[in-house]
Amino acid sequence: MIISGAGAAGLTLAIDLARRNVGFLLIDKAAGPFMGSRGKGIQPRSQEVFEDLGVIDRIVASGGEYPVVRFHTDEGPVDRSFERSGPTPAEPYHIPLLVPQFLTERCLRERLAELGHAPLYGHELTGIDQDDDGVSARIATPSGERTVRAAYLVGADGGSSFVRKSLDIGFPGKTLGVRAAVADVRVDGVSTDAWHRWGEGADTQVSLCPLYGTDMFQYVGPVPFDVDIDVSAAGLTALFHERTGRTDIVVREVSWASVFSMNARLADTYRIGRVLLTGDAAHVHPPTGGQGLNTGVQDAYNLGWKLAAVLDGAPRSLLDSYERERRPIAEAVLGLSERLLEAAKERFTSRGRGVSQLDLGYADSPLTVATPYRDKGPLAGERAPDAPVTGAGGLDTRLFSLFQGPHWTLLGHEVDRTAAPTARKGLHIHTTGPRGDLNDTGGHFRDAYGLAAAQWVLVRPDGYIAAVADTADLPTVEAHLDTVGSW
Ligand SMILES: Cc1cc2nc3c(=O)[nH]c(=O)nc-3n(C[C@H](O)[C@H](O)[C@H](O)COP(=O)(O)OP(=O)(O)OC[C@H]3O[C@@H](n4cnc5c(N)ncnc54)[C@H](O)[C@@H]3O)c2cc1C
Repeated sequence: MIISGAGAAGLTLAIDLARRNVGFLLIDKAAGPFMGSRGKGIQPRSQEVFEDLGVIDRIVASGGEYPVVRFHTDEGPVDRSFERSGPTPAEPYHIPLLVPQFLTERCLRERLAELGHAPLYGHELTGIDQDDDGVSARIATPSGERTVRAAYLVGADGGSSFVRKSLDIGFPGKTLGVRAAVADVRVDGVSTDAWHRWGEGADTQVSLCPLYGTDMFQYVGPVPFDVDIDVSAAGLTALFHERTGRTDIVVREVSWASVFSMNARLADTYRIGRVLLTGDAAHVHPPTGGQGLNTGVQDAYNLGWKLAAVLDGAPRSLLDSYERERRPIAEAVLGLSERLLEAAKERFTSRGRGVSQLDLGYADSPLTVATPYRDKGPLAGERAPDAPVTGAGGLDTRLFSLFQGPHWTLLGHEVDRTAAPTARKGLHIHTTGPRGDLNDTGGHFRDAYGLAAAQWVLVRPDGYIAAVADTADLPTVEAHLDTVGSW
């Protein structure tokens, strides 16, 4: 396997494959890790993914919660907070995190190193040839060009994806008429307790967001098209003074800067034969709502277990579900980010639950086993909730701890343990009821899943419900497992 691109999407895929003992080469044309803060919002659903991948606590510790937004108006500062609700047993992560992208990626690289892998920097993918049996990739390395043969190649190579272009995959969409300067800066004269914003319309806005885990701020200001923008400390200070009149605030140092035009684009397809796209290579969004990195991380998380299963002998058609599941999500996310961009041009927008990505799911997926009629609880295809439970040995645990790892999980609620399917590779079975290994002490498992006695829930390796079944329907569940890599 070759993964081209060691950004957030490529690193996530690499971790998921490494913990499944799949061999791969992770290459990146850059000389070293990306050092900008740009994708700084980590949404609750991505936090759940990061828990499964074993990095959530170090990512939380690297950053912080979003501060209040402070509007500096002619009448003085006005603070507004994003709406927040507390965690629940079913949804333990509720608060978007503010973590500069380079720190998130550093945590992912650390995890990858623990698993025995590292990105190969200075390695640029320059050519792809594929046939029925595999992919040949030409890679320019510091010691010359080499050709590597692999079963699959994944383009995690960002919005300008070489992989997408070389496969001639269309990338329709639009430029959104917004160009912005974004920079990581050290600033004198501004407090770190708020995300400071000045100006109302697109021509006058400028903001400084503290980058927790660093002594910097993310400077963002819309700028006109076709004008050279000076992103030096002096240039950004001048732009800031022009927009705010605040000469007491001075940009001292710029550690990273970029001027970019916002686009909303979606690849026509995510896969041709043995080559797949993931992350920004497949979809680009405006940064509003903090969705781009999160969507890419979740693409990779959806793809990892499927690639591993196919390499282990599952039918190749399993890979068809990747585009079927993830492309409609990117389409919806594009709409959401665009709506938030429109609103943000004029005023503060409360982002709402939609940005949390907790309600995304795969109801129409071919991997979703038809559910018998239910009048409560999540349906097959939806995200599998967490719940605190107690092990038969007396120690407290959580469903997410039981899900953690590369396996499928079959949970039985008040079932006869002897009715459980025979043990098989890649499936963990946990039950409550007589001889069960779990006690649903607070009834959280039952309530979160809306289960009646003698019902079972099959949870995919990526934390979505594949099936809800009565004991009599377990043969259907077993037949499904036969086709998805657990046998
Ligand atoms: C100002 C700004 C703010 C943002 N805010 C947010 C936010 O709050 N939340 C959020 O979720 N997202 C946000 N985003 C978007 C986020 O930064 C991107 O979605 C994210 O970086 C995409 O990750 P990726 O791994 O798909 O691609 P990238 O991070 O672009 O990584 C692609 C990698 O591929 C490598 N590469 C390219 N071509 C080749 C080749 N031929 N061979 C080998 N390697 C190659 C590149 O060097 C690069 O390292 C923001 C973006 C911007 C610009």
